[in-house]
Amino acid sequence: MANPTDEPIEGGANSALTKELLRVNRALRTLSAGNHTLLRASGEQELLRDMCQVIVETGGYRMACVAYAEHDDAKSIRWMVCIGTEMEFLESHHFTWAETEVGRTATGTAIRTGEPVVGRNLLTDPAYAIPAYPRLRKQMIQSGYASATAFPLRVEGEVLGALVMGAVEPDAFNAEEVKLLQEMADDLAYGIANLRMRVQHRAAQATIARLAYYDALTGMPNRTLLLEQLEEAMQAAKQQHRSLALLHLEVGRFHEINKVLGYRAGDELLQELGRRLAGAVQDDEMLARVGEAEFALLLPNGGAEHAIQVAQRLVSLLREPVMVSGLMLDANPRIGIALFPGHATDADALIRRANAAMHQTKPVRGGYAMYTGGQEQEHIRRLALMGDLHRAIEHNELRLYCQPKVAIASRRVCGAEALVRWQHPQHGMISTTEFIQLAEQAGTITPLTNWMLEAAFSQSYAWQEAGLARALAVNLSAHDLYDPGLIDRIRGLFSTWGLDPALIQFELTESALMADPAAALETLTRLKQLEVELFVDDYGTGYSSLSYLQMLPVDGVKIDQSFVMPMMQSSDSEVIVHSTIELGHNLGLKVVAEGVESQAIWERLAGLGCDVAQGYLISKPMPAEQFQAWESNWSQLSG
Ligand code: C2E
Ligand code: MG
Ligand code: MG
Repeated sequence: MANPTDEPIEGGANSALTKELLRVNRALRTLSAGNHTLLRASGEQELLRDMCQVIVETGGYRMACVAYAEHDDAKSIRWMVCIGTEMEFLESHHFTWAETEVGRTATGTAIRTGEPVVGRNLLTDPAYAIPAYPRLRKQMIQSGYASATAFPLRVEGEVLGALVMGAVEPDAFNAEEVKLLQEMADDLAYGIANLRMRVQHRAAQATIARLAYYDALTGMPNRTLLLEQLEEAMQAAKQQHRSLALLHLEVGRFHEINKVLGYRAGDELLQELGRRLAGAVQDDEMLARVGEAEFALLLPNGGAEHAIQVAQRLVSLLREPVMVSGLMLDANPRIGIALFPGHATDADALIRRANAAMHQTKPVRGGYAMYTGGQEQEHIRRLALMGDLHRAIEHNELRLYCQPKVAIASRRVCGAEALVRWQHPQHGMISTTEFIQLAEQAGTITPLTNWMLEAAFSQSYAWQEAGLARALAVNLSAHDLYDPGLIDRIRGLFSTWGLDPALIQFELTESALMADPAAALETLTRLKQLEVELFVDDYGTGYSSLSYLQMLPVDGVKIDQSFVMPMMQSSDSEVIVHSTIELGHNLGLKVVAEGVESQAIWERLAGLGCDVAQGYLISKPMPAEQFQAWESNWSQLSG
């Protein structure tokens, strides 16, 4: 008797075929809907969820989950999305893809092997009666699936995790269906990788934008961003008939700090000052780092009065000493202010003018300055002068001047200082202090020093020929101390002119020596090997200690004129001059006083035992060719 539940053989084959077709059809439907999902997804979690949803809703599977393989010690499996079964259950089951008993689940095995793992008749097949399964089976019954397949999610040979699908029928997932569904899992894996790449790409783009617009040290906007924002702010201010202000701020003596304490200390100082500034600005204001030790602050509202108040506040904030490398440093800030629309109507010009104003600040006037019309012209003139200096050297516009030095006790001329003068064809005589400073700042002092050395050696030779053996002292700048060719050049000049080393001396300012004490010591030592006399110039202005001076191979100090000139009126100055003479003598150094302008000063210096005087009382600097005549006149008068 035929079993009523048994289907006819033929009908059975047909129905089996139909079932197969239905399954392939369902897999194809899922694959195609999955493709749409892939194209639409913009985030990883969203993609996983939508994919599982499509599998269940369009594909008609009972359950769909995605698990990721963790690379921790336990090789755990992290469930990302679950539709059709409870995520909490899966999480509590502590799945793993390790090669262990509990790691032999379909998901674990698919991740480990990179091959799909098909489980049919999960509820009845004794093969699934392993210890890991009883709880799982209960869950399967509750969720209503009897077969499941785990498909590895593979990207370029690496398995990210698995896509797990469950079907109601115990014998689902035949070969054709598995092939199609693995294709979908591959697409999903590709989609995941693609989204991750997009995230990385976006992060890289953000980094590039950050590098282009922000300063790495302080995290502040940089000059480029400031310029963009300033342009926008100026546009807005124009439309709303408002004014705005730009403050340009510079940290003083930053190069000195960098050189003496090192770049790390310099960076620390800037970071601390940056923090202070950032803490002091309002939300609508923009602070930027626009140069090595320069900041700018854009005040989108308010005019002169407001800008001055802010500048005063910032100056006092930055004047609070900063602790760097165990030292209390004074940031010595200066701030220039320029206003829109009063001072400039385009962003570039406003920045330039705030900068020009900054160069005009004086500590006694509060450390800040408002732009006034002439400053920029002055700035431009100084820049043009720099360009002219090279030409001046080539066209022989420089002149050698000499100022006598006289031994106080004997009133005898004991030497002269070589001082450069520049007779500009249009601007006339240029201030020496100004163009020396400009050349030092621009790093173009070397050709000038070379010109002076040539001039001094040839002058000294001329005097020697005339029977007048006078020591001529040449000034060297901080830059010259680092010039690797300096010593050889001087040695070469001695050979060329055949001069006695006693006829050439060198003066180095105390601040130049302090800029890099180690390098200074090395150069002085090598200069000293040429047997020339060396003097510390402008002594008293450079904060050096006597113990440091003691280490240097120098023969004398020149007390700066700013102490000598007021010594009759100011007891502070007198004390400095007095003690420098005493301490200098104790160290075995000659002491020269600069800026001796009156007889009274001369006599006081004589009383204090000062060795040499130099100043307008004796003579102003004069063209070198007049020196001989002046000297014979002086000798007659004091003879
Ligand atoms: P310095 O080396 O301290 O030179 C002394 C300066 O004081 C000279 O200014 C001189 O004219 C001035 N002076 C001398 N006696 C008196 C006085 O009694 N009263 C007043 N008020 N001033 C007096 P000068 O020639 O303008 O030079 C300024 C500075 O420029 C020099 O200071 C020196 O540091 C630098 N300098 C001058 N020539 C050269 C050079 O060829 N090379 C380098 N590197 N620096 C130079
Ligand atoms: Mg000098
Ligand atoms: Mg001096």
